[in-house]
Amino acid sequence: MKIGALREIMPGEARVALTPASAQDIRKLGHACLIQSGAGEASGFSDDAYAAAGVEVVPDAAALVAASDVIVKVRPPEPEEVALLGEGQTVISFFYPGANPELLEQARATGASVIAMDMVPRISRAQKMDALSSMANIAGYRAVIEAGANFGRFFTGQVTAAGKVPPAQVLVVGAGVAGLAAIGTAVSLGAVVHAFDVRPEVAEQIESMGASFVFLEFEAGQDGAATGGYAAPSSPEFREKQLAKFRELAPKMDIVITTALIPGRPAPVLWTRDMVEMMKPGSVIVDLAAERGGNCELTVPDEKFVTPNGVTVVGYTDFPSRMAAQASTLYSTNIRHMLTDLTPAKDGVLHHNMDDDVIRGATVAHHGAVTWPPPPPKVQ
Ligand code: NAD
Repeated sequence: MKIGALREIMPGEARVALTPASAQDIRKLGHACLIQSGAGEASGFSDDAYAAAGVEVVPDAAALVAASDVIVKVRPPEPEEVALLGEGQTVISFFYPGANPELLEQARATGASVIAMDMVPRISRAQKMDALSSMANIAGYRAVIEAGANFGRFFTGQVTAAGKVPPAQVLVVGAGVAGLAAIGTAVSLGAVVHAFDVRPEVAEQIESMGASFVFLEFEAGQDGAATGGYAAPSSPEFREKQLAKFRELAPKMDIVITTALIPGRPAPVLWTRDMVEMMKPGSVIVDLAAERGGNCELTVPDEKFVTPNGVTVVGYTDFPSRMAAQASTLYSTNIRHMLTDLTPAKDGVLHHNMDDDVIRGATVAHHGAVTWPPPPPKVQ
């Protein structure tokens, strides 16, 4: 089969779904690879590098889609890209079917199959294809780098001839994949890191990474933890305790990184205006939940600004794209693993096995039908 990667058309998106290295691996599955000219430019992969890896460089999107059986990309396809699709083709990209019902219907009507990388079930076997996690890992790392670039002091404490420097105090709110990556990065830079999550079971992971878990005192059964590895919306009592704890921490923290999300809902507002006003001048807030409205009350999505009391609030929504070479490398590896599972005989023939939990879970349109939401996976 021919696997073709489109150039991303969303302004500012620097990632690409196929790298020269992943193309070489995909070719070992018996497939041929194509790339739209310039698709890798913003992440540092030239047309020549693709050609050297045996990838055919195609001049434009229409020619790429016409020549490909499988079209891979990063962002959900735009309507004009979907319009190029036809029966028998497969698209693999982020898709967010819940947020894009019209796009899903448009894709369904073409007869093409759509595999949504954001719908890959979060089970152990599928971790190699879990692009949400690979991108969240980058976002967490980059959040700390961004915080450091806007913070006028060291992360690590130092005793120098010119004076004693205290370590930076960092609070990470939400210890999922991005939060844990932020904790690891901030600890490795020498900061004193505190972290909070509504799931008490992550306390051990937080502490094993060298951070301290911010505990709330509760009677048994009164916390906000739910089943399935995700947090349920907190009870009013939980929220009240959480906010009181954050108000206590706000004047002491130099950097606050918020990553708290609840699947399918807007981000909870956890860092309120008065907490920002209590922070010291020079402090930095990086809000990784900005795309879903933000955990900080003052966050402006896609912007960075300084408050009247001197706190920098960073609400960028494109952290993985700000590390496009790394993000493309990991994302294209996730795609390559998906193609490996779709090509079990390594004979260049796609076997879209709807009895496979992972493939079924990620497939949102197939043979003219919407196949989202999927039935619950059989294997955990
Ligand atoms: P996410 O991005 O949806 O949420 C980030 C974090 O915010 C979560 O840890 C959540 O508990 C926390 N949160 C929500 N509301 C909060 C609040 N009010 N205050 C503080 N924190 C709050 O999560 P994610 O990183 O995509 O993944 C969440 C979890 O799912 C992981 O930590 C892991 O346990 C599980 N997971 C499993 C796999 C796998 O098995 N393949 C892969 C990825 C994630």
